[in-house]
Amino acid sequence: MPVWSLAIIPVAIGFLWLLFRTKQSHKRQQSTLSSEYFKGLNYLLNDEQGKALDVFVKLVESNWDTIDMQFTLGKIYRKNGEMDKAIKIHQGLIARPSLPERYRSKILQELGYDYLGAGWFDRAEGLFKEVLIQDQKSAEARHNLILIYQQEKDWFKAIDIAVDLFSENPTVIGPMIAQYYCELAEINSTKGDISQLQNNANKALRYDASCVRATVLLADQEKVAGDDKKAIKLYEGIEKQDAESMILVIDSLLECYENLAAQDKLYDYLVALQDRHENLFLQNVIASVLEKSQGKQPAIDYLSNKIKRQPSLAGMQKLISYKQKEVDADEIFSDLTTALSVMQKDSVEYRCQKCGFSTNTHYWLCPSCNNWGSVKPSVVELDQ
Ligand SMILES: [Zn+2]
Repeated sequence: MPVWSLAIIPVAIGFLWLLFRTKQSHKRQQSTLSSEYFKGLNYLLNDEQGKALDVFVKLVESNWDTIDMQFTLGKIYRKNGEMDKAIKIHQGLIARPSLPERYRSKILQELGYDYLGAGWFDRAEGLFKEVLIQDQKSAEARHNLILIYQQEKDWFKAIDIAVDLFSENPTVIGPMIAQYYCELAEINSTKGDISQLQNNANKALRYDASCVRATVLLADQEKVAGDDKKAIKLYEGIEKQDAESMILVIDSLLECYENLAAQDKLYDYLVALQDRHENLFLQNVIASVLEKSQGKQPAIDYLSNKIKRQPSLAGMQKLISYKQKEVDADEIFSDLTTALSVMQKDSVEYRCQKCGFSTNTHYWLCPSCNNWGSVKPSVVELDQ
């Protein structure tokens, strides 16, 4: 069986189904239309796309109510990745002088999807803009424009469009706009434009009060500027936005406390934080802080005690490394440490809460499902 005939099967099935439906709803024209449809279908099955399209365009001109069939055919082609054919259908329709005005924006929209599928963002953008001129309320066109601007990293344009959608759906659109402002703030950060960075990060927080990324940007900025106290306040505020995300900033937080030589305060804070959120697995961090401020033994005591109640690979690994140094134990210890560190590396550090995508790198935009802020720290630990 040639490859093309496999590809044509879903097209043919979809078309037969449509034919059946059309026959139901247009009984009067049934006989003439049916024979033309079969002619077109026959061309399709013989892979004579050009001839098939000619037949279908003529058909739709004789009865514009059958245009849904062309849309479905276009969708089937698009699903099969045959953008050129989908584009031909929709371009053919839009070029018809007899095209009723009421169908124009729908055809433009479909053509826009074809261009998106083909990766021609410029052309798709132009079309969706045209749809908006025809139908100012089209949320679909706006969503597609947002996707295009997001792809092109044109954050200003993305914000412009998204703001129009905000009032309709603030819980979904708010966090998106916040991420766009964070993207701008990150650009400001690399350019060293502090006031714009703060401006954009604060705008992000206005659209989404729990935007962790904006707080991280503001806190990092204070830390770089040497205002450790302000930075600490901001980092610690993340607990209220999203407790799990504290893991993202714990190293920076430690540095700030160290700069202030406030190890004791840090210890109290971390223990309280761990008590509030068992799933944060802070025992290694706490042990390191204890070791620095009070020496090795208190760190070992803390860990051995903690591990009994809350076993974790990382905790065991750290405990073994302490004991190994202390008693200079056998090679077994060192082997075990190596094994555990390998297991630790294998475990997933971040996971998308929307689609389950796992990764060792933290992303603000999930590379798999394209959701903002859905990739969260997730430490895989031993069964308890
Ligand atoms: Zn995802």
